[in-house]
Amino acid sequence: MSRPLVARIDLSALRNNLAVVRRAAPHARIWSVVKANAYGHGLDRVWSALNQTDGFAMLNIEEAILLRERGWKGPVLMMEGFFHSDELSIFDRYRLTTALHSNWQLKALEAAKLSAPIDVYLKINSGMNRLGFAPGTLTTLWQKLQNMTNVGDMTLMTHFADAESPDGITAPLHCINQAAEGIDCPRSLANSAATLWHPETHYQWVRPGIILYGASPSGQWQDVATTGIQPVMSLESEIIGIQQLQSGSRVGYGGRFSAAEPLRIGIVAGGYADGYPRLAPDGTPIWVDGVRTRTLGKISMDMLAVDLTPCEHAGIGSRVELWGKQIKIDDVAGQAGTVGYELMCALAPRVPVMTD
Ligand SMILES: *Cc1c(COP(=O)(O)O)cnc(C)c1O
Repeated sequence: MSRPLVARIDLSALRNNLAVVRRAAPHARIWSVVKANAYGHGLDRVWSALNQTDGFAMLNIEEAILLRERGWKGPVLMMEGFFHSDELSIFDRYRLTTALHSNWQLKALEAAKLSAPIDVYLKINSGMNRLGFAPGTLTTLWQKLQNMTNVGDMTLMTHFADAESPDGITAPLHCINQAAEGIDCPRSLANSAATLWHPETHYQWVRPGIILYGASPSGQWQDVATTGIQPVMSLESEIIGIQQLQSGSRVGYGGRFSAAEPLRIGIVAGGYADGYPRLAPDGTPIWVDGVRTRTLGKISMDMLAVDLTPCEHAGIGSRVELWGKQIKIDDVAGQAGTVGYELMCALAPRVPVMTD
């Protein structure tokens, strides 16, 4: 038997979450965002469970090629476009839709020798100040692109900086509407938060990521608890050691946790080298032998300690869920000062992955 830590990927939860998105945005088409190796879930492992999607959005050319080689014939959107002009021949060959966010890209596209026009997502900076053209340039750019032989279908794209907040989309949406006045353009604006909470942003294509994987764009599970989305990734392990602490005994590196009274603890095979956050404080929720309990002491590279007080029957070999269906990844992330996105993406390569 090998080390008991595994990540389980629930493909039926992934399918369910796509259906939740479909119900939330019934009139829009869906770009399933699978960047960062499908948020750490493994693109090759999960993409076919999302085959009811209308398209896949990502930013690594290798991931796009993989989808084409696996037989995906539908739309593929490269959300940051090409990084160097020589990639345009690959965009052409694999029929990838490109975002255009900078002038150098526009010039490169204009100069490229393509077998057929490629579709373009013209990216406008609506206030995040990351990628995108200034809103005031939209009308001119739109016309210029329309007249370029290398450009096929065009869509207006922006990315919201703060769609989690109730009024976080007011200003950027106003900015986009003003910029697009007088142009008849399809739009793709909404990430997960906007897909769930701002239906007025749906337009022709939504771009959900995190909710497909069953975590909250706000970092608070309670914000999505009633939507019907289900966690896709579970990190599971076992108890591999037991210690009986006396009052005053300490746990782990630096002895950060000190027992105020006698206490039975369990040692779990799982640590920060697996992607569990080292910054998780004492008291981070964890599920042991069917019961919710808490971590104690600093997280080690390969192990962590848990309080067995509420888990009377737990012993060597008892099942542990570090995050998943019972313990939401948002709750672990929140304790560690981060978000579910980061924990999913940081699942370590050494962790064996099983799909259900
Ligand atoms: C990552 C990303 C998304 C998806 O964001 P979520 O918050 O995971 O839904 C959508 N659009 C762009 C441009 C992105 O980079």
